[in-house]
Amino acid sequence: MDRTVDPCTDFYRYTCGGWIKKNPIPADQSRWDVYGKMEEDNQRFLWGLLLEASKPNASRSVVEREIGDFFQACMDQPAAEKLGAAPLQRALDEIAALKSVRNLPAFLARQHLLLGGNMLFNFGSNQDYADSTRVIAFATAGGLGLPDRDYYVKTDAKSQEIRQKYLEHAAKMFELLGEPRELARKHARTVMDIETALAKASLTRVDKRDPYKLFHKMSSAELQALTPSFRWQTYFTDAKVPDPSVINVTEPAFYKELERELKTRSLADWKTYLRWHAVHAASPYLSSAFAQANFAFFSSYLRGVKEMPPRWKRCVRLVDGDLGEALGQVFVEKTFGPDTKPRALAMIKEIEAAMQSEIRQLPWMGAETKQRALEKLHAVVNKIGYPDKWRDYSSVKIARDDFFGNVERANAFESRRQLDKIGKPMDRTEWLMTPPTVDAYYDPQMNNINFPAGVLQPPLFDPKLDDAPNYGNTGATMGHELTHGFDDEGRQFDAQGNLKDWWTKEDAAEFEKRAKCVSDQYSQYTVIDDVKINGKLTLGEDVADLGGTFLAYLAWKDATKSQDLKSSDGFTPDQRFFIGMAQWACGDERPESKRVHAITDPHSPLEYRVNGVVSNMPEFGKAFACKVGQPMVRGEPCKIW
Ligand SMILES: [Zn+2]
Repeated sequence: MDRTVDPCTDFYRYTCGGWIKKNPIPADQSRWDVYGKMEEDNQRFLWGLLLEASKPNASRSVVEREIGDFFQACMDQPAAEKLGAAPLQRALDEIAALKSVRNLPAFLARQHLLLGGNMLFNFGSNQDYADSTRVIAFATAGGLGLPDRDYYVKTDAKSQEIRQKYLEHAAKMFELLGEPRELARKHARTVMDIETALAKASLTRVDKRDPYKLFHKMSSAELQALTPSFRWQTYFTDAKVPDPSVINVTEPAFYKELERELKTRSLADWKTYLRWHAVHAASPYLSSAFAQANFAFFSSYLRGVKEMPPRWKRCVRLVDGDLGEALGQVFVEKTFGPDTKPRALAMIKEIEAAMQSEIRQLPWMGAETKQRALEKLHAVVNKIGYPDKWRDYSSVKIARDDFFGNVERANAFESRRQLDKIGKPMDRTEWLMTPPTVDAYYDPQMNNINFPAGVLQPPLFDPKLDDAPNYGNTGATMGHELTHGFDDEGRQFDAQGNLKDWWTKEDAAEFEKRAKCVSDQYSQYTVIDDVKINGKLTLGEDVADLGGTFLAYLAWKDATKSQDLKSSDGFTPDQRFFIGMAQWACGDERPESKRVHAITDPHSPLEYRVNGVVSNMPEFGKAFACKVGQPMVRGEPCKIW
């Protein structure tokens, strides 16, 4: 803490100032916060597990052999150096052999399964928005190299500079593939031209928060009519798509543009574009010339990271990303104590009870909508720790001496797994995060909350501490996830996870009015220089932060109502609740990274995730005896849930 700051002026500095001073951003990070630090602790722990599992002794379990050999192959830097660009050769040869634009479907069907998932567009599976029990094919927009479509269309000086640097980076990669400088620069411009056309036809992140804008079910014949130059039948057959009869084409305008591009561009241009995406996707797994060029642009220039993370860290992350439920088994065996799950579940139940009483007495919502809201609340499923059934990776061939091959095969396994869901009933037990992940999520189509083992650890969740900090911290996170079911996006899905309007017109209008209060509030906050928060992009998270903290406060009050709570460390129980609530968010971020997040991250910067919330809560003002007119007391506080 930094007690020289007045909590009523800047509560975030007051609670986190000391942490920030003592924890400068490490050279290999773009931001550094309590979550990031825990994540690194987890990575160090996993590193030890993987070093042990990588020793080729006979007593290893099947899972230990899988993760150990994958890690061992990844750590073999000399082997990667010796190979140079050789692992890319197969893809490059296939691109060179393309005889016509008509050969693209067959090529993409293969490449999308491996590392080239983002070439031109993405194809996979997801729940049908109208019927959450059903999985259907999804064809989505893609094809870009920069982190968002906005980078291609914004006209300010900084965006122009970023595009210039991106051109130089793409040229550098073509040079690494052996092209002379002038040709490489020409090819980089071709890539930029194609990607700019695709970006202009892509929805913004704010648009993509509206599920109705992403819901356009078509037959394969309709998709074929949309893009006559791309033979979908070939793509479906070659990618072995189980049931392509219904496809949600999330952005038809994007596919229309794709058709225009396919029709007008030369085969040579497409070969250039595909070569770029092949090398771009593979570069982290190639020799250091490629890996470092990739790091120099995307991490160093774009996000301000000073040093490449050590190889062990990159390899631990890769095992978590590619074989996460194998690594997760070993992780939970060693870290997840038997009392954590019941204690966390009991806390979620308290938060749900708080939400129930909130909904019942909500002054702005009518009885009919309240009934639906309660139905949805009661249908929420809570998943804690790790999956009931572990994913089986035994069909992935993992070799101790073939790093690149392992990565490709793990990617193929995952792509296949996603495609094979099409036409099958939804598996509601699946997790979208791995057990060691320090994070949590709500899934609107599953209507479930997921808390991986990694996030239920001190200092976020400490079974040894009393309720005030635990409710303030983890309780508020649980409330946050629960509120996502009722934020501007989540509220459009019903209790079964179907996209279906269950609101009366009047109640929806009342909600919109209150949501606008929140987006107006956050839109005034500055991220960096003249960049403000895009309050429409962060609305769902801001609503969840606000609702979550309020629910946790109510739940904590209820859980401790028969206790005689005492002050400790010089703070009242209420003050300790709010300090606990703020201290998950202690952290700092490099200016470059703040710029990226202002465009791509639906979460507000950390300080506003605290100050934006407490300044809306009279309970906070009372706890710290703040006065009207001070920065942490908003004249007209926003409140939804
Ligand atoms: Zn969230």
